[in-house]
Amino acid sequence: MATSNIRIKKMCEWCGNEFEAQKCSTRYCSKRCAEHAYKERKRQEKKKRVENHEIERVAAEGENKLKDSQYLTVAEAAKILKRTRFGIYKLIYRGVLKAYRITGQWTVIKRADIDVMIEARPYERKPKDAAIVNSENGEAISEFYTTKEIIEKFGVSNSCVFAQGKAHNIPKVYHRGKTLWSKAHCNRVFAAKPEPPKEDDWISYSNVRAEYNLTYDQLHNYVKYHGLRRKKVGKYTYILKSEIDAILRPPTLK
Ligand SMILES: [Zn+2]
Repeated sequence: MATSNIRIKKMCEWCGNEFEAQKCSTRYCSKRCAEHAYKERKRQEKKKRVENHEIERVAAEGENKLKDSQYLTVAEAAKILKRTRFGIYKLIYRGVLKAYRITGQWTVIKRADIDVMIEARPYERKPKDAAIVNSENGEAISEFYTTKEIIEKFGVSNSCVFAQGKAHNIPKVYHRGKTLWSKAHCNRVFAAKPEPPKEDDWISYSNVRAEYNLTYDQLHNYVKYHGLRRKKVGKYTYILKSEIDAILRPPTLK
């Protein structure tokens, strides 16, 4: 194999002398220079490793210091919580995170206040539908009617829903500003309604007035306001005892 006759003028990367290379990739004029360069490269690599290690060490030390620090700057709090400084300021402005403004440029956050902020906000799974535990059998009730739905479905008045709800202890919950009634209970209570009240279910105005110590007008206002069912027999007015009781009977502790 014939050696190449090409001679390339190059500058030694180690000593800087000009030399004639046989290959483009030759970088040094001599083996000696190549060895020097190699050793220098290794030295630089080692130096870099040591430097990187030092940077890591300092960072870790800083983090450790931060760990023990009771008082934090906004930047430090951001670092700990892995948020931006802006994110921390947002928490402060919203009153979520307590901070102290010592001077115009100096805000201090107590580490304990970060814990307080976190503790106050446990992640709670919000039930999709409001649910309550049925006291009768301990099962969770998950199906509800709104008051409006009951009115439409069973053709009763708003006050009737509440009166019956009270009279029959229909489990209810408040969800997003609405009263929700246990579906199963409502189906029982309101479906049973078309059955005419029995003779014994009625009570005369005068008996109610005596029992609850009411004037005629007071009682009449209750009846009208709550839309209670009435029947007239001769000159006497009767109402359903269960309905008036639901309104006037003092609540009992369960
Ligand atoms: Zn050289």
